[in-house]
Amino acid sequence: MNEFIRDFAICPICEKEFAYDKVASTAIKVSSYDLDLKPEYRGVNVLLYSMVTCPDCYFTFQESDKNYIYDFINETNKNQIEEFLLKIKMNISLEVDNTSQKSENFFESQILIASNIYSILNLPSEVIKVLIKLSWLYREQKDEEKELGVLYYCAKIIENYYEKFNEDDFILSSFYLGYIYYRFQNKKEAANILDSLIRNYNNPKNQYLKAAKFLRGELN
Ligand SMILES: [Zn+2]
Repeated sequence: MNEFIRDFAICPICEKEFAYDKVASTAIKVSSYDLDLKPEYRGVNVLLYSMVTCPDCYFTFQESDKNYIYDFINETNKNQIEEFLLKIKMNISLEVDNTSQKSENFFESQILIASNIYSILNLPSEVIKVLIKLSWLYREQKDEEKELGVLYYCAKIIENYYEKFNEDDFILSSFYLGYIYYRFQNKKEAANILDSLIRNYNNPKNQYLKAAKFLRGELN
């Protein structure tokens, strides 16, 4: 069985087409979820293939955004992104790898580039989502110091922006803020955030609300 399929994306900055390996839906097997909804994959680690990078200009984004990211690029932020990518090119030697052989190191670089790009695009909710992925990589590597470092930084971004988010991103960010307080042993603040979330929103289909209730139960 082929675990990967070849797909293509067009870079919204340099407009060149590039190929990448995408995990076939039949190869995605989740055995369980951690408290923060980090999936535990059996077989292919799907996390690594959620980011793609243009081999020409290094523009990096979440594969799931490939059809939407154009909508957020304008003349001004395009220039800022080009400047940022040029700096990366001059300072870091990067072996772009969008294949099934991608290393964890390259995935880490992808996250660092993408979080800057989403920040230039003024999409803090996406910065949060990619940083959570980085915290998951560090958890897999059992590097708790780095994991907590990313989570701490993530909490700062959430606290600065989440009140302006749409409902879905607000729920996701509040859940992660509660989780981050829990990881930093501040159970009281974690409980406050989760209680307020559970009190104000009721959508049985929202996975973050379900996870918030479960995590709230763990705090007692
Ligand atoms: Zn490009």
